[in-house]
Amino acid sequence: MDFWRLGLIGYPLEHSLSPQLHLAALQAVNLPGEYVLYPVRPLPPGQSELVGLLLQVWRGELSGLNVTIPHKQIVLPLLDQLTPAARAIGAVNTIWCEDGVLWGDNTDAPGFEADVRRFLGSDFGRLPYALVLGAGGAARAVVYALAQAGWAVTIAARRLEQAEALVKSLQPAVTGTLTAVSLSAHVLADKVAGMGLIVNATPVGMTPKTLASPWPGVTFAEDTAVYDLIYNPRDTRLVQDARAAGVRATTGLGMLIEQASLAFTRWTGQQVPYEVWRDAVSEN
Ligand code: NAP
Repeated sequence: MDFWRLGLIGYPLEHSLSPQLHLAALQAVNLPGEYVLYPVRPLPPGQSELVGLLLQVWRGELSGLNVTIPHKQIVLPLLDQLTPAARAIGAVNTIWCEDGVLWGDNTDAPGFEADVRRFLGSDFGRLPYALVLGAGGAARAVVYALAQAGWAVTIAARRLEQAEALVKSLQPAVTGTLTAVSLSAHVLADKVAGMGLIVNATPVGMTPKTLASPWPGVTFAEDTAVYDLIYNPRDTRLVQDARAAGVRATTGLGMLIEQASLAFTRWTGQQVPYEVWRDAVSEN
C-alpha cells in the first residue's frame, strides 16, 4: 500500500485520542498515511454517509476504519463477515476489506484482556470472580473477554433488565458463568467478598463530572483489584477511593492502547512497540 488511509467513524469525536495514537504508530513503522476523523450522526443523512464510508473501504479507497459510539452496533448488518468476538459481543470497532469481503472485528475485548493481564500479572485468574458495573457496549466486551478466559462474572446494572439481557445473549457464547444483579449498595455488599476484580464499565466519573463514582460506598474486599475503563481523567474518583482503601486500581488508558494496537496490526500487519503508543498519549 502506497498510502494508508485510516480513520474513525463516530459522534461526537472532538476528544478522540485515536488520531495521535495511529499517526504515531504509522510514523514508528515508516508507513506513509493519515488517520481522519469522520463525525457521522446516527440519524439520516448520517446513515448514507456511513454506508458511503464502508463502500470506500470495500473499493480499497480507505485502508481501514475504527468505529465508535453511536455506530458500533449500527454497522453490523452493513458488513459481510464478523469475527466470532464481534458476533458474540454484537458490536464492531474495526473494519477492513479482504478479497472483496468487508470484515468487522471487536478489539475492545482482547484489548481489555491484554491490559488486565498486564495489570494483575500472576494474579490474573487466581481469584476468577469479577463484578462488572454497567451493562452497555463496553461491558459486553469486558464480560466476553473475562468469561472466555474462564472467569465467573456478575454484571451489576442500575436497570436489572439490561444486565439480564446481557447475560441471556452472551452466556451461550462463553465458558464462564454469568449472573445479573442490581447496581445498589445492599446487593453489592453481599457480592464483594471473594471478587478478584471489579470493573467500572459505566461513564460515571468521566470528565467533566470527575467527583462522581459508580461505586455505592461498599467496603472493598481485601483481595480485590479495581479496573476503571474510563481514561479521562487519568485517575478517577473510583480509582482514588480504591487506592485509599489499600486496593490496587487502574484506569483504562492501557485498554485504549491495546485495542488501537490490535486494530493497527489487523490493517497493516505491523506490530508497534507498546512504548510508542504510550508516549503518543502520555501528555494528555
Ligand atoms: P454505554 O453503552 O452507554 O453503556 C453505559 C452503561 O453505564 C449502561 O449500562 C448505563 O446504564 C450505565 N450507566 C450510565 N450512567 C449511569 C449511572 N449514572 N449510574 C449507573 N449506571 C450508569 O457506554 P459504553 O460504550 O459501554 O462506555 C462505558 C464507559 O467505558 C465510557 O466511560 C467509555 O469511555 C469507557 N470505555 C473505555 C474504553 C477503553 O478503551 N478504555 C473502551 C470502551 C469504553 P443505562 O443504560 O441505564 O444508562
